[in-house]
Amino acid sequence: MTSFDIVVVGAGPVGLAFAASLAASDLKVALIDRQSMADLAQPAFDGREIALTHASIKILRELGAWDAIPCSEKSPLFGARVLNGSNPFALSFDAPAGCWKPLGVLVPNHWIRNALFSVVRTRAHARLFAGCNVVAAQSNPREATVTLSDGRQLKARLLVAADSRLSALRDLLHVAAEINRLGCSMLICRVRHEVNHHRIATEWFDHRQTIAMLPLAEGMSSLLVTLPANEVSRLLVMDDAAFLAEMTRRCCGRLGKMSLASSRHAYSLVTTWAHRFWTSRAALIGDAAVGMHPVTAHGFNIGLGGQNRLAQGIVTAWCKQSDIADPTLLRRYEIRHRLTAAPLYHATNMLVKLYTDERPLAQAARHVGLRVSQNLPFVRRGISAFLRR
Ligand SMILES: Cc1cc2nc3c(=O)[nH]c(=O)nc-3n(C[C@H](O)[C@H](O)[C@H](O)COP(=O)(O)OP(=O)(O)OC[C@H]3O[C@@H](n4cnc5c(N)ncnc54)[C@H](O)[C@@H]3O)c2cc1C
Repeated sequence: MTSFDIVVVGAGPVGLAFAASLAASDLKVALIDRQSMADLAQPAFDGREIALTHASIKILRELGAWDAIPCSEKSPLFGARVLNGSNPFALSFDAPAGCWKPLGVLVPNHWIRNALFSVVRTRAHARLFAGCNVVAAQSNPREATVTLSDGRQLKARLLVAADSRLSALRDLLHVAAEINRLGCSMLICRVRHEVNHHRIATEWFDHRQTIAMLPLAEGMSSLLVTLPANEVSRLLVMDDAAFLAEMTRRCCGRLGKMSLASSRHAYSLVTTWAHRFWTSRAALIGDAAVGMHPVTAHGFNIGLGGQNRLAQGIVTAWCKQSDIADPTLLRRYEIRHRLTAAPLYHATNMLVKLYTDERPLAQAARHVGLRVSQNLPFVRRGISAFLRR
């Protein structure tokens, strides 16, 4: 059995950021992922364009990952419009007049992973176990152990689950979670188009579909369509011409003439909330703790902030030569992460419920909601300021 200080299961963006955050110590870290080393080192485009807040950019910069992402892959976002059905009224979120700071920056998920992977590879403290699943795990007040699919066993002072929203490690540790399968999927692809996007995102809650258009390079956007799962499956296999014709119709020509600029990707929508973010000698981070609906674009931002808080607590404990898995430390992480994530998680779920409800009363309520928000500048300014954190 090989011993480590910390074993992290899941080398996604949050697991990688956590391993990179621990480089400030000489703690010995193992990072396990079921993907091959080649796929982790050169992740393929997966359709996701992550809207990063300034707080997230600061963390990525401190980790040395921000500068490893090419400038051509960073698309500043200067505003957002929310539309309800066929009503022409739009609720607007903009940077204040004269403010040069964008609301956020869109970066492809595979570039975030690529940059964080390069950071972790250059640090000697972390060892990667690629192409492995965890088939068994145990933790008790003295130690935690995991068994890998190839039979190897690892022992640690702290075990960390960063293996996504349907976390297998969370189940192996007997931590319960609220899991909501929404029965719909999100289809994403990049399109080139003739109408200028002016670096403004559009979120359009239309009848039986939700469409988001995220501005990338000039003349290019990421198109996200949320529909019942069977409709997304149909759109995925359509030939390009039929697909573009249907998307142009669904978008009511808002982007003008479109052509495909990437492969198509689909995600079935599941939100999750773990009942606990820690147990004896184990903690949950990223989507394994909180799996947000992507509509408010905050899952990674929340996960990145959470791992940063946990890593800071661990590095402080290590400096004081105290226990890196002390229950007080893990409880403090849980309380702070819950306080940050709960309002956004519940507000997002309520928003999704209201904006996918087809009953006339709900349609009227959301129209009134948009109008009222537009006429309350402090609400719009508050949300814009929150996005620009
Ligand atoms: C369509 C879409 C758009 C999004 N847009 C945004 C956005 O704009 N802004 C934002 O902040 N967030 C966004 N998100 C959310 C964001 O993508 C996630 O919050 C983020 O990827 C979570 O990172 P993670 O490392 O926790 O999990 P993941 O990215 O899911 O990575 C988990 C890793 O664990 C590995 N793994 C899984 N199971 C096992 C196992 N049993 N054993 C070993 N390894 C395992 C996987 O291979 C993977 O590498 C979006 C999500 C979606 C689906």
